[in-house]
Amino acid sequence: MPHNRCKFIFVTGGVVSSLGKGITAASIALLLRQRDYSVTLQKLDPYLNIDPGTMSPYQHGEVYVTDDGTETDLDLGHYERFAGVSCNRNSNYTAGRIYSTVLAREREGGYLGKTVQVIPHITDEIKKAILSQADEGIDIAITEVGGTAGDIEGLPFLEALRELGQDLGRENVLYIHLTLIPWLSASRELKTKPSQQSASILRNIGIIPDILICRTEKTLQEEHFRKLSMFCSVPLDAVIEEKDVENSIYEVPVELADQKLDELILKRLQLPFNHLDLDEWKNMIGRVVNPSGPPVRIGVVGKYMGLRDAYKSIYEALTHGGISNDAKLEIKGIESEDLEGDRTDALEGIDGILVPGGFGHRGIEGKLEAVRFARERNIPFLGICLGMQCAVIETARHLVGLSDANSSEFNSACSHPVIHLMEEQTEITDKGGTMRLGLYPCILLDGSVAKSAYGSQEISERHRHRYEFNNNYRERLEEAGLVCSGLSPGGDLVEIIERPDHRWFVACQFHPEFTSTPLRPNPLFKAFVGAAGEHAIE
Ligand code: GLN
Repeated sequence: MPHNRCKFIFVTGGVVSSLGKGITAASIALLLRQRDYSVTLQKLDPYLNIDPGTMSPYQHGEVYVTDDGTETDLDLGHYERFAGVSCNRNSNYTAGRIYSTVLAREREGGYLGKTVQVIPHITDEIKKAILSQADEGIDIAITEVGGTAGDIEGLPFLEALRELGQDLGRENVLYIHLTLIPWLSASRELKTKPSQQSASILRNIGIIPDILICRTEKTLQEEHFRKLSMFCSVPLDAVIEEKDVENSIYEVPVELADQKLDELILKRLQLPFNHLDLDEWKNMIGRVVNPSGPPVRIGVVGKYMGLRDAYKSIYEALTHGGISNDAKLEIKGIESEDLEGDRTDALEGIDGILVPGGFGHRGIEGKLEAVRFARERNIPFLGICLGMQCAVIETARHLVGLSDANSSEFNSACSHPVIHLMEEQTEITDKGGTMRLGLYPCILLDGSVAKSAYGSQEISERHRHRYEFNNNYRERLEEAGLVCSGLSPGGDLVEIIERPDHRWFVACQFHPEFTSTPLRPNPLFKAFVGAAGEHAIE
């Protein structure tokens, strides 16, 4: 059981998915934290994968990795970036994980003599997952449920939320429903009916939302607030508008605070209104919206450029790099396949090239073109994970003369596997949760660009990979100008490479984008955008 002071906020969604529940939950957490409450955030996903680690970006967008190496939903990235909370294994549960725990327990005889059922066994396990966040010292635990009210697979989750209202007492539980008020351009009107229907689905389950947050592109009028209040059974002052923000998602918490959402939440949870301090946050937004510096054009060369969420944390971390340099950042997504066959036009006029992480052979040759372009034209370059592996392959092919150099991920028969499967991975056959995941330390070389960016000798960053730099080629690659500037403490894993003969060329095996926040930008992103900014003013 949670300690008895902890309060719970449950965030559900209605009408459509991709409403921005994660950003809303993260914004609420930020506001409560800035009122001096300690907050945790959690996402429950009703799908059957044990975690999103095995899904493609087409299905799921980016897979976010936490310090403890859990592969999670990208909403956890919003939680960490907005609220500065540290997420872990307890911060993301899927239906698959819940069911597999219950089924394993059934095999062990944990339910001997009983029929194992969705209610109460699955719902009890969901409740346990929710309560697992309420550690000593946590004042408010926020849980967001993925999907939309009415989804069949979401039913046990909503039932668990309903039961917790009863178990914990209504003064300790707050239900927030996020919904969409669509704008019909033909008739030029906002429609409240889908939200009414969504609230009625929740009512059938036994949940009456305490607060209704309405996503809308147009300002709601008095009549809309009244209708929503009346037909969704929510008090008038608890119908909150969340209008599309103009410039940056970081404006959402400020908009919600302007409508006193945080005060409403605290009032309902019977908690005192501590002072709200949003000065630092607002100052940061000012720098996103009105940067004083010149435009800086960053090209991100990946293979899912049409998918907004596939490189979410990369785009966010670049934005943070922009904030810390007061740069007017312009990010250009470039499909790596479009660069294949010497077609590098898309890279002209770019001040910095970033090759992000990835899996599989498609698009690799274009990424190698992008690395070559950056190296030969002295354009600031940041390679991340697969991006570092591409930088190593490019050096091997074009500077060491190993034209068949490759990663054994893409060509297991190549004669020069300069990137190869990590020793510890050779026996692994399962695909889920088996990569080298989470925080690992890295020692930085004196005098390196990496060390001056981080300003310390030892760093710790998050990983998600199976392949690594092949040390058998290290000498030849170093002779070709690569410096291994970050190594694992034993010295056997190359974590960062750079080129001293280049104005700014750094690539890392880890994912610095996962530890970047708008108030504490990751040092590599800050230094990379800074170097690109210098390129821009030349
Ligand atoms: N596919 C590469 C590996 O597994 C790179 C992974 C990544 O970029 N996250 O090592």
